[in-house]
Amino acid sequence: MARRVPRVFKNVIAPVQAWLMAQGRCVGCGRDLTEGKSTKRRDGSHKVICSCGRIFVNEKNGKWRRALLEEV
Ligand SMILES: [Zn+2]
Repeated sequence: MARRVPRVFKNVIAPVQAWLMAQGRCVGCGRDLTEGKSTKRRDGSHKVICSCGRIFVNEKNGKWRRALLEEV
């Protein structure tokens, strides 16, 4: 499943993923993350699981990011 991505493609994909994150969209499938399964965390941020299985964190300031391994 986890395919090795050549460097040249990574350089293209990273800005697209950053853009998707800024829009509150899943970097994998492009779905709106507000439609994902959201659970509140102790620090007030939200953990959101997209329907494709990817996990994100919506920070208190509204910024989206990928969940870290230890948060999954
Ligand atoms: Zn997704």
